[in-house]
This record gives sequence, structure tokens and C-alpha cells, in this order.
Amino acid sequence: MKTILLRFGELFLKGENRHYFENTLLNNIRKKLSGLNYKLSSTQGRIIISDFDDEEELVSKLTTVFGLHSLSIADEVEATQETITDYFKNIKLENSTFKVEVNRADKKFPIKSMDLAAYLGDVLLKSNCNAKVDLYTPQQKIMLDIRANGKAYIYQKSVLCRGGLPLGTSGKALLLLSGGIDSPVAGYLMAKRGLKLEALHFHSYPYTSPEAKQKVVDLAKKLAVYNDEVKLHCISFTKVQEAIHQKCSPEFMINIMRRIMMRIAEIICNRNGLGAIVTGESLGQVASQTMQSITVTENVIKSVPVFRPCIAMDKDEIISLSKNIGAFEISILPYEDCCTVFLPKNPVIKPKIYQAEKEEQKLNLNELINEALQTEELIVVKDEN
Ligand code: ATP
Ligand code: MG
Repeated sequence: MKTILLRFGELFLKGENRHYFENTLLNNIRKKLSGLNYKLSSTQGRIIISDFDDEEELVSKLTTVFGLHSLSIADEVEATQETITDYFKNIKLENSTFKVEVNRADKKFPIKSMDLAAYLGDVLLKSNCNAKVDLYTPQQKIMLDIRANGKAYIYQKSVLCRGGLPLGTSGKALLLLSGGIDSPVAGYLMAKRGLKLEALHFHSYPYTSPEAKQKVVDLAKKLAVYNDEVKLHCISFTKVQEAIHQKCSPEFMINIMRRIMMRIAEIICNRNGLGAIVTGESLGQVASQTMQSITVTENVIKSVPVFRPCIAMDKDEIISLSKNIGAFEISILPYEDCCTVFLPKNPVIKPKIYQAEKEEQKLNLNELINEALQTEELIVVKDEN
């Protein structure tokens, strides 16, 4: 019987929590494959999918599920010497050199791995008279995996999955999602570490267009492939930006904007049970992402950590991940982001906390934040993949 054999990623590290991680992974797989025909079972260390129609579609969906290390299309037979031998007698080798590798996960199977590999090698040589064994650089490898469910799996190739931890096992967080290249990548990277994300987008309508907002919804759709549905909180930042523009020194504009974004993000986190803020900042990329600027931004946050997975990445590394998750083409569409609307010519590169605080005294912060929160609109973006 044809099956898809799935291997876990890092779950083996998780000791007592292992069951929780495995169950979450199984649920995430079921969700991802909903609507398709298949059967799912698990045996210690492996998940097995059988009775499916569309192998290609299943594989393409499974490779978006975090927590899976790799998968193989495998034939399942009863784990007895006789059935395994029969199976091997019918293998037609395509190349001239080969190797058999045996993994005897079920230690009750009576023949040891090395002995079984040698024996099956002989079986193959008998039915493929031009073939030769090459243990070091074989052109073809035939793998046999004997599992504790009494079945043996035979396959030749593995497809690498994305690794990471099952979505949700690290908790929930809020991604600050702009229309740019970096923040969708940051979201992808944190979802990969098991964080289920909601997203927060600030728009500056009517300075920014409805297309700019649609672009963010489209980016959230790309994220939903890995994160399941994305609750996208949209907040108008127009009044905040106008107030800063009127009252504060232009060189501090971005710092003040970012501090207000962070305060609003923290409130949304606390209201929705989200335990961290995620941003796409990368050290030194722009004036607002110097160490000093980040210090000034972060200073307003009290109750949640800020995760910045892109902090150490070069732009070309971020771009290649952005392409990998299908976000790049959307991110480079030319619509204005709220941050670019009032962009000052000479932002400070090394702001100090006291300077930002002094600028903020010119504003009625609480009122601005409350007004902004009242504009909140929630868009639920589904995983359509
Ligand atoms: P990106 O490519 O993600 O837009 P960027 O290089 O343009 O990043 P900034 O504009 O300084 O950098 O923004 C840094 C981070 O702040 C973004 O990665 C994002 O997490 C957050 N951010 C910026 N603008 C917005 C916005 N309009 N709504 C929500 N979050 C935002
Ligand atoms: Mg941006």
C-alpha cells in the first residue's frame, strides 16, 4: 500500500511535553488537509498517511506544516521477513550501483539491521544481474524502515519539510505587518518557531490608498498558508501622524510614531491574550533601526517581549525568504505605507529616550491612542492554500 511517511522535526527534544507537541502537530496536519481524502495514523516516531487520491497536493500542503522534518512516499508491507523479501524480489533497479539501508525502529524484529541490509542486498542482486553494491557512493539507495506498528516502509527518496515547531505550541503573538518585505518574513520565521500569529496593520487612509490595505490583506493570505487563519487588526494611524507632524520636531517623527505603534500593539496584545510583539526590524537597515532607535522604541513596552527575527539578516537573505514564501511579488507593489507618508528628510540616527519623551509631551498621547483604538477593524484572513 502506498503511504506518505512523515518524520518529526525537533519534537524529540521535548521530553514530557512530547504528547502535547505530537497532538498539536496531528491537529495542524488534519486542519491543513481538511477536505481531502486520506487516512492518518501515527506510530511512535512517525506519522503515516494512506488511502489518498492526490499525492502531489498532499505533499505540497504537508511541506507548509511546521514541525515536520521530512517526508517520503513509501510502500507499506507487513514487517515479516517473508513479505519484505517478496517486495525486494520485485524491485527493478534503475542504476548500476545501489545500497540497502535498514532502520530497525522495532527492536522486536528478529534480524539486526546490518544483517538484514546484507540479506536484502543479495535478494536485489539476484533479480538485477547487472547491479553492484556500493556502500559509499551508491547511485540508488533503497531504504527500509521497520516500525513498531508491525509494518515496514520501503522508499527511495525523502523531501525536506520546513522543520520548526508545531504552530501554536509556543503560544500566540502579534505581528506588526506593514506592506513591506521584512515583516511578512518576520511573521513566517516566528510562526515556524510555533507562535500562532495575529497581525496588526496601521494605515493612513486617505493618505494611503485602499490598494495599500488590500496589499496587506494579500500578504496576510501568504502568511495564512503557514499560520492558518490570520486575524488582521487594522487601525487608522492618520490622526496620530497628523498630530506628530503638526507638533513634534520632524527628525523625531519616526521614533514617536514607532513608540505609539508599540503602545497600541501592547494594548492589542493584552486585550487578545497575545504574549509577544513581532516586528520585521533589521539592525542598521534604516535610521529607525539603529540600536539607539530600537532602544527608544522598545522603552515604552512593559508587559510583553518584542521578537525581531530579521534583526541579524541581510536584505538579500530576507528577500530570498520572502520569495520562498511567495510574498515578494506582493511586497514590492508600489503602494505607499503609512510610514512613508510623512517621512522626514533627516531622521535622528541616535535618539535618546529623554528626547523622545520630551517630544511626546507636546501630544495628548492617551487621547490619540484611544482614538486610534476606536478605528480598529478586524479582518479574518483564511488559509486558502
Ligand atoms: P517592512 O519591510 O516590514 O515594512 P521596513 O524595512 O520598511 O520593514 P520600517 O518601516 O522601519 O521597516 O518598519 C519596521 C517594522 O515596523 C516593520 O517590519 C513592521 O513590523 C513594523 N511596521 C512598520 N510600518 C507598519 C505599519 N504600517 N503597520 C504595522 N506595522 C508596521
Ligand atoms: Mg515598512
